[in-house]
Amino acid sequence: MSVLIFADQADGHIKKSSFEVLTYGAKLAAQLGTSAEALVLGNVNDDLASLGKYGVTKVHQVKDANLEHVDAQVYAKVIAEAVTATGATVVVISHNQTGKAVASRVAARLKAGIVAGASALPDTSNGFVVRKTVFSGKAFANVSISSPIKVISLNPNSFTTVSGEGTAEVNVLNIAVEAPKVKVTAVNKVTGEVPLTEADVVVSGGRGLKGPENWGVLLDLAKELGAATACSRPVGDAHWRPHHEHVGQTGVQVAPNLYIALGISGAIQHLAGVNRSKVIVVINKDPEAPFFKAADYGIVGDLFEVVPKLTEEIKKMKA
Ligand code: FAD
Repeated sequence: MSVLIFADQADGHIKKSSFEVLTYGAKLAAQLGTSAEALVLGNVNDDLASLGKYGVTKVHQVKDANLEHVDAQVYAKVIAEAVTATGATVVVISHNQTGKAVASRVAARLKAGIVAGASALPDTSNGFVVRKTVFSGKAFANVSISSPIKVISLNPNSFTTVSGEGTAEVNVLNIAVEAPKVKVTAVNKVTGEVPLTEADVVVSGGRGLKGPENWGVLLDLAKELGAATACSRPVGDAHWRPHHEHVGQTGVQVAPNLYIALGISGAIQHLAGVNRSKVIVVINKDPEAPFFKAADYGIVGDLFEVVPKLTEEIKKMKA
């Protein structure tokens, strides 16, 4: 009996969202009086023993060329086999893009109950009850899992990462990995861009920017902040910005520390994609814009006047 935490990686580096699930899994293991162990798939450049500082005692690694690109079916099979090999009874996975595709498949393979999108540690005083968000983050549901093995996918940014001093033992797990049915023939990366789902800071624009020719004002601010750029759905639909930047219910869901919204009204479908941001700053000329209700800081004003001044001030601070 242990808690196995899937520590997701990209380009040989453990993702930020993994540190959060490692902390969560270690706290859960302490609550259950058991040990927390991590699982890493593929080759990683980071020092895996250092994951011990998040509270795991062991890091299991499966190395195989077939794990180079994420394939949900292949990953789920390997994770499920690792659960059996390590004797884990609780599996924790981030509810990020990879986790969403993988967690339910892992649960199906293990005939385990799953809570997808958990937002807090389970209440284990009477059973195993996990709180999760529902209706695009508008409400919570408490879900009880009674199966012997339990799978939890944790909403990014819902748990504070805590790190200490520990070192973990690294163990190579020998699991046969089957070849993915879908072969990746090429990966085109936009160099220099911060990936939206992993970004600490996101600057996002809506119809208030009036057209693609005005995006310079947003890009300047994003550049100064080292931020990823995003947009509302109408902006993507109108091809002012590429579709992969569209955030919201029907787009990407982001969870940065800082989300700056420029000329976005704050429709519920947009908020569904950004409401896990730690701090939201809204710049809108309409004081009645609904986004202000969800904002931590709001500036009522014309973005074409406010944003260049803000960018200038940030430049001065950095000088
Ligand atoms: P608008 O609503 O037109 O808002 C523009 C804002 O800019 C206004 O608040 C205005 O006051 C402000 N503004 C204008 N000029 C300036 C200026 N000079 N300075 C400062 N502020 C200015 N939307 C999403 O974003 N993501 C989704 O995933 C999504 N999914 C949807 C799914 C469904 C099923 C449906 C029905 C809708 C969905 N939508 C989604 C659309 C959503 O309902 C809104 O229509 C959309 O988010 C509005 O985009 P916007 O805020 O950019 O534009």
